[in-house]
Amino acid sequence: MLYCGQLAGNLLNRSRFSYVLDNFGGGLLTPFNRHMPLVVIGGGVSGITVAVEAAASGVEVVLVEAGPVLGGRMLRTHQNYPKLNSSSSDLEMHLRRLRSNPRITVLTSADALSIDGVRGNFKVKVRLNPRYVKDNCTSCDKCAQVCPVEIDDQHNYSMQKTKAIFRIPGTGNSPAYTIDRSSCMGAECGKCVEVCGDRAIDMDEQPKEIVLASGSIVLATGWDPYDAAKIINLGFGRVPNVISNVMMERLVAADGPTGGKILRPSDRKEAKNIAFVQCAGSRDHEHLPYCSSICCLVSLKQATYVRDAYPDSRITVIYTDITNPCPGRYDKFLAKVIDDDKIKYMQGKVSMISEDADTDGVALSVNALRGVGCGVPTEIKADMAVLATGMVPKILSNVLREVMVLDKHGFMNPESQQEGIYITGTAKFPFDVTSSMLDATGTAIRTIQRIRQ
Ligand SMILES: Cc1cc2nc3c(=O)[nH]c(=O)nc-3n(C[C@H](O)[C@H](O)[C@H](O)COP(=O)(O)OP(=O)(O)OC[C@H]3O[C@@H](n4cnc5c(N)ncnc54)[C@H](O)[C@@H]3O)c2cc1C
Repeated sequence: MLYCGQLAGNLLNRSRFSYVLDNFGGGLLTPFNRHMPLVVIGGGVSGITVAVEAAASGVEVVLVEAGPVLGGRMLRTHQNYPKLNSSSSDLEMHLRRLRSNPRITVLTSADALSIDGVRGNFKVKVRLNPRYVKDNCTSCDKCAQVCPVEIDDQHNYSMQKTKAIFRIPGTGNSPAYTIDRSSCMGAECGKCVEVCGDRAIDMDEQPKEIVLASGSIVLATGWDPYDAAKIINLGFGRVPNVISNVMMERLVAADGPTGGKILRPSDRKEAKNIAFVQCAGSRDHEHLPYCSSICCLVSLKQATYVRDAYPDSRITVIYTDITNPCPGRYDKFLAKVIDDDKIKYMQGKVSMISEDADTDGVALSVNALRGVGCGVPTEIKADMAVLATGMVPKILSNVLREVMVLDKHGFMNPESQQEGIYITGTAKFPFDVTSSMLDATGTAIRTIQRIRQ
């Protein structure tokens, strides 16, 4: 694997990778290579899988990832159901295969902006975003300590602040910092530059545009969480101890905002009595009419986080139906969770979540859909409520959006795309990791077959 990006000074090996039609000033050079590579846009688990499988069959691949590191949303997940392995070690397993294949070139901090051309002769415009911190950074952290600007920590879904110069999450032990230039005061401040004994900071770095020539393209641009603040009755943003499922993943992460402790946001007290609210906005025509298929198992997995952390914890899962995205495959995991008598299930619909003045926790008004009390609103109190919000397709750049055919929910339908452009993973459907990888493997096979025809 060849790793490129601003950290590596965009050092593309021109002799091998002559399909990079670049002019780092912005124009287009056209040294054409008859072995046109496959460009994979999106370096989450789906894009990584396509890249690895295609390269294993002898195809040259360029993997383009907008973030500073590969991994996509898996980087922010604590454990993966059904095995409850650590997400970072699962990811590392895939990355090891990627690193060992010299046919894969990786561009990180690289936004795919547009696609032009036809099958066999595409041009993909990519913006390489600067990180402003060079490879000789030693991770001493002095820059962040003197930085006077605090910003929301996006990696942790704004549950804590970070500095405008910060360590890139997911980089393990490698020294990798970056600057959020939209909030940094630049030369007006310059404190980080002054304190950096290694002279690793270059505030004057500029974005660069390159154009990749490509025979075929796979889009693996992934998903975003549905904006929970839109579901007004469920209190997200209004009631302090209502969080969403993606936030719960960060609450249990050792590098998360609470150092891995499940604490409620209002007062950092241990949250032992938790209500999981299923279908939060999903299967609802005012929000997401579809089922994201993963949220039920995600909540059950998150219930195990709480049960493992606090043996005296109590969980209530309020659901309409329990969806298992792969019947048969996850039965063992489901049985383990369902057998726990400290986890209660209530088939019902939550009509309102309010702050509970007595406990500073949450009060949920629930209409039971079954059994005793069916149809009569019941009140459930908890320390914290976790909304199982669904997945929406990631918003593409406007130019990419014009080229792609989107379905009514914004996902990309693989059948209706231009010849030579393939879609995979959660860019086409809200899959879990296993299903994303299965889909990506199939996409890699289809793509290779078309390349070889
Ligand atoms: C709370 C929660 C917990 C979950 N837990 C589990 C679990 O335990 N087990 C499980 O199997 N599944 C789980 N999932 C599902 C899992 O997260 C997804 O299946 C997985 O992330 C899909 O990977 P992907 O590569 O399709 O998308 P992503 O992970 O979103 O990756 C897409 C990548 O594309 C990049 N990208 C987008 N646009 C561009 C562009 N224009 N140019 C360059 N790059 C671009 C993005 O930066 C991103 O890195 C969970 C989901 C949620 C909501």
